[in-house]
Amino acid sequence: MKSIHQYHDGHVHFFPPQLKTAIDHWFEREGWVLYYRDQQASELLELLRKDGVDQLAVLVYAHKPGMASELNSWLHQFGQQHAGLHLFGTVHPDDVNMEEEVRRCLDDLNFTGFKLHANVQRVSVDDERLEPMMRGIQERGRGLIIHAGREPHANAFVGWRPFSRLMARYPQLKVQIAHLGHDEIAEFIAVSHDYPHVYFDTAMIPSSRFLLSTERLGEILNEIPNRIIYGSDLPILEEPMAYHRTRILQAIEDPGLRDKVFLRNAERFWRSETDA
Ligand SMILES: [Zn+2]
Repeated sequence: MKSIHQYHDGHVHFFPPQLKTAIDHWFEREGWVLYYRDQQASELLELLRKDGVDQLAVLVYAHKPGMASELNSWLHQFGQQHAGLHLFGTVHPDDVNMEEEVRRCLDDLNFTGFKLHANVQRVSVDDERLEPMMRGIQERGRGLIIHAGREPHANAFVGWRPFSRLMARYPQLKVQIAHLGHDEIAEFIAVSHDYPHVYFDTAMIPSSRFLLSTERLGEILNEIPNRIIYGSDLPILEEPMAYHRTRILQAIEDPGLRDKVFLRNAERFWRSETDA
């Protein structure tokens, strides 16, 4: 079971060209050798299609206040031009118009949810400034994708504790934890057991940076088979995405589990409670 012909990707980043180039440069300064350097959204989407991806989650994030709305409009426009895209917008904790922007994204633009990057946006997931977004998502049964783990840097904003405080406030919130919460995978999984709508994605996990053995990966997938969503993290990769996908397939013995990780769990996460 080393290949798969048609699947979903639950974690992809597309950005407007200038921002994509700036992000490439940032990672390069951090010492990364990017495999998909200088490739823009349409080109990257083409690669995913050739690889067998029919539906995908597209994530953006605003690293400064005042830029979210333009980024969300760009994302919406891109989504209008292509089929099978589930859009996850952004707000910044210091945005003055957050409440209205959350409403616009969820109701007018019909986004599947929001992405929050605790590390880059320098905000804990339980920060009270984010209440309008958390409330808006939970009320409509949409999804929140969070990068709350301590990679690629630990800082005061990340870790499982703020996540656990967030869930205590919004127990019905539908959340996807990026990168399995690395490097506190066990801690994030322990918190998730108390909440019915918490998922995890595999983005970056098979990379040589994380050194997670295939055996350990298999254990995790089997421990929470209904909560794991395959995600490539394209284009922030140092290896071809096929290499990552193959490593995940190697950790899966059971075809039923493969079906859940590559298709069904994402479908459940993307479905808003209201269209059930
Ligand atoms: Zn990512």
